[in-house]
Amino acid sequence: MAPPAGGGDPEAPAPAAERPPAPGPGSGPAAAALSPAAGKVPQASAMKRSDPHHQHQRHRDGGEALVSPDGTVTEAPRTVKKQIQFADQKQEFNKRPTKIGRRSLSRSISQSSTDSYSSAASYTDSSDDETSPRDKQQKNSKGSSDFCVKNIKQAEFGRREIEIAEQEMPALMALRKRAQGEKPLAGAKIVGCTHITAQTAVLMETLGALGAQCRWAACNIYSTLNEVAAALAESGFPVFAWKGESEDDFWWCIDRCVNVEGWQPNMILDDGGDLTHWIYKKYPNMFKKIKGIVEESVTGVHRLYQLSKAGKLCVPAMNVNDSVTKQKFDNLYCCRESILDGLKRTTDMMFGGKQVVVCGYGEVGKGCCAALKAMGSIVYVTEIDPICALQACMDGFRLVKLNEVIRQVDIVITCTGNKNVVTREHLDRMKNSCIVCNMGHSNTEIDVASLRTPELTWERVRSQVDHVIWPDGKRIVLLAEGRLLNLSCSTVPTFVLSITATTQALALIELYNAPEGRYKQDVYLLPKKMDEYVASLHLPTFDAHLTELTDEQAKYLGLNKNGPFKPNYYRY
Ligand code: NAD
Repeated sequence: MAPPAGGGDPEAPAPAAERPPAPGPGSGPAAAALSPAAGKVPQASAMKRSDPHHQHQRHRDGGEALVSPDGTVTEAPRTVKKQIQFADQKQEFNKRPTKIGRRSLSRSISQSSTDSYSSAASYTDSSDDETSPRDKQQKNSKGSSDFCVKNIKQAEFGRREIEIAEQEMPALMALRKRAQGEKPLAGAKIVGCTHITAQTAVLMETLGALGAQCRWAACNIYSTLNEVAAALAESGFPVFAWKGESEDDFWWCIDRCVNVEGWQPNMILDDGGDLTHWIYKKYPNMFKKIKGIVEESVTGVHRLYQLSKAGKLCVPAMNVNDSVTKQKFDNLYCCRESILDGLKRTTDMMFGGKQVVVCGYGEVGKGCCAALKAMGSIVYVTEIDPICALQACMDGFRLVKLNEVIRQVDIVITCTGNKNVVTREHLDRMKNSCIVCNMGHSNTEIDVASLRTPELTWERVRSQVDHVIWPDGKRIVLLAEGRLLNLSCSTVPTFVLSITATTQALALIELYNAPEGRYKQDVYLLPKKMDEYVASLHLPTFDAHLTELTDEQAKYLGLNKNGPFKPNYYRY
């Protein structure tokens, strides 16, 4: 197992709390590789997991992990997810692949691989085409057949999606420009397993522009945008993914990315940990050439910490999930935008004058409340924490207990990360047509199971919309069966994904270029300086003009003029 942060080895990146003021930007390998005129990639002497101030990790897939002061990461009991179980025994793939629609899901793929997820609109989806992509012979216009997508002919539509996404991903486009002529990822062979969407395509094409070769599979069996996968395959990326994969397809696609003659990955970009663990189980020798793993999700990060703790992590890994910009943008700003989108798409409702109760006033709750208040809704908040409760009051929301308003509200939204916040008793007391949905953790917050009783009738009225009808005719409108509303029923703003993707790209550059010994076989958090750099790359979008510290001010505050500007315990 790797030594504790900063212990022993003077070269080892120290935990942020112990680190001396960081040197000026541009001194790390990432910076050396990308030496732009305006703004340089900061040195990524990443924090190790033992940063005592880093305590909560919240994640896009609805999970949360707790980091104790000694750096041990555990999943919070209230958000425990299914342990990833891998299809270890399955070396042989089905000879006759499962058709689309016939999914043989078992517990052997991670929950994040199957969580409901909606990608952008599909223009060309031909649901009547039942042939499995594995049964099709396809070639791109250059004659390559090193890919497996639903239909290569959809490439043109996918290209349009990618071009739209590029508009909202300014930082990646800036990285491409800055790296013109220089190829910080030259020689990098990146195998990736993430959602295959237009935003991922922009990331992949950026990695390609920076010199990397990429092979990619989907981390989720539902989330691939077929047109985008086709566009990537058409432009020469070996992509193995389609919407509606079976479990067997899922592992087959991952295997096709890594098990290829004459090509071995030297970097991993993973979202959920399935790819990493496939390589661990099936091709452990590959790790001899792998320089690092970049992991995106709570599940995957948790798994990496487990491996590290057991002394089994054999390469450095970067946890990109916990950068400040990601958490703030994902939880607060993303939810502020997508709550309205999710409600609108499913119900066509008008928000003005509606009475809404939001359970939980953390980052997600704050985003939901702000959006609904701005639309003219009357918003009530429930909280268990007096600090967040006081924030709600100061922000002008009425703090109530759920019981006090449950009979009168038009919408109930859960954002607590907790379980059984809305119980059958609450559901029984709701008024006719009350809309019930969850923006918090997975599917635990609303006791949906309690609604599956013989006296209640379920009517599917739209995709992701159920009417649950009581014997007296009262009905409630349940969205996404209590799973995350925005992930199931709307899209996530590209700008938010831009931030995550930029962090991933920088983490890959840093790990790939890091001199021997800079990173040990351990899990590292990205330093605040990297966070600040990611944010700064997004500022030009807004024509925002950042104030520079004077020498005198920098000295007064004890800061380097180039950052980092805040201590790690700063809360933003
Ligand atoms: P948070 O911890 O900042 O906020 C949750 C709040 O809920 C806390 O203030 C807590 O005191 C309160 N709470 C807990 N139990 C409660 C109860 N019974 N009644 C009322 N309030 C209660 O967390 P967050 O960042 O706001 O995230 C909340 C959940 O949303 C997490 O599960 C997270 O993984 C998930 N999440 C969802 C998305 C999304 O896109 N939908 C994005 C990020 C995070």
